[in-house]
Amino acid sequence: MRLRGPSTTFLKERATVSTPAAVRVQSFGTTVFAEYSALSLEYDAINLGQGFPDFPAPDFVIEAARTALASGYNQYARSAGHPRLVNALAAVYSPVFDRELDPLTQIVVTTGATEGIYATVQGLVNPGDEVILIEPFYDSYPPSVIMAGGTPVYVPLRPKPGATSAADWRIDMEDLRAAISPKTKLIIINTPLNPVGKMYSREELLALAQVAQEHDLLVLSDEVYEWMTYDGTPHVRIATLPGMWERTITLGSAGKTFSVTGWKIGWAIAPEPLAHAVLMAHQWIPFAVTTPLQEAVGAAFEQVEERNYLHELSVMYQAKREILLSALNDVGFPPLTPHGSYFILVDTTDLDAPLPTDDLRDVQICRWLTKEIGVTAIPPSAFYSPEHSHLASNVARFCFCKTDAILEAAATRLRTNL
Ligand code: GLN
Repeated sequence: MRLRGPSTTFLKERATVSTPAAVRVQSFGTTVFAEYSALSLEYDAINLGQGFPDFPAPDFVIEAARTALASGYNQYARSAGHPRLVNALAAVYSPVFDRELDPLTQIVVTTGATEGIYATVQGLVNPGDEVILIEPFYDSYPPSVIMAGGTPVYVPLRPKPGATSAADWRIDMEDLRAAISPKTKLIIINTPLNPVGKMYSREELLALAQVAQEHDLLVLSDEVYEWMTYDGTPHVRIATLPGMWERTITLGSAGKTFSVTGWKIGWAIAPEPLAHAVLMAHQWIPFAVTTPLQEAVGAAFEQVEERNYLHELSVMYQAKREILLSALNDVGFPPLTPHGSYFILVDTTDLDAPLPTDDLRDVQICRWLTKEIGVTAIPPSAFYSPEHSHLASNVARFCFCKTDAILEAAATRLRTNL
């Protein structure tokens, strides 16, 4: 299956206002997260839609920020990243990438992974280049490609019939090969995958790597949920597979890692020629990222080993996953068990809700859940091209990055009202 997203119609049906906007943004609607967080507030629902922790960041992280602000780290940072942070990132990531990372040439600190995605695409994609996006994708990928003048080419994952595990949603290598043309420049993957909770296996990534090498493609690997993994499922980094370091940019996010999504600190790790391209774009986007918060994230990373923090993060989230899985099972929303990320995709096929409009079924169900049941979920059609949005008709995405009390309260509402 080969499907190119026409750059001027993407998301048009979700556009809400008419403005003198430039052609490159004319087709964009409001993001699904803004829309559903507002709806959730309006109906006083429990927001299991937008993925952000509702609990405080760890004390040692907040303390590091206080210290940074008080210590005078309040002027522009080095454009590619504040020294304390890039040094800390090199120390944390060198062992997991199995190579000595150069903090000064192979790491670029970005304004969240969102800017990492944007700057990578701006730095590497020429107008007319095609970029392969695996569906469901994180919603900022198509706009980033479109704003660079590139063309998204969509390849949907194929769920096994009766899938119960996120691992049952797999990429069909024939679909991927059929999507490639002489114009293909980049493949974007996301593991662990938002919204499915899938972690690509080594075997899948080896197959992807083979295709990338055969066709001389670059890979952007969005790994923002890298430290939220369950059931001992290994997080395989495509950059560590044979022949892949040279062609891969890997992204991470402090927002996810330290439960501070509002800090908007992310990073790109790549070999020098690719990191240089990202930096050439980044220097004209924010120029540099918030200095005191970079200092704080650097200080926080210096402490993760002695605190066993990253392991405990997964343990905490695995317990939260169990609370939500159990409630969803009970109320007739068979979930796909996620092995990573803080999202659960459920099957809503058996839900008999009144759906009066012509909107997509998943959109109507998520609105209805917010208004009538008091729990907000995200409609996954936002993570598909319009042409493939029907593939999301019978699913909804819930997040479990909330306090146990809120998860229990949501479970009570679902059990009582559904
Ligand atoms: N990544 C978060 C999610 O998927 C939200 C990010 C955002 O609000 N843009 O829910």
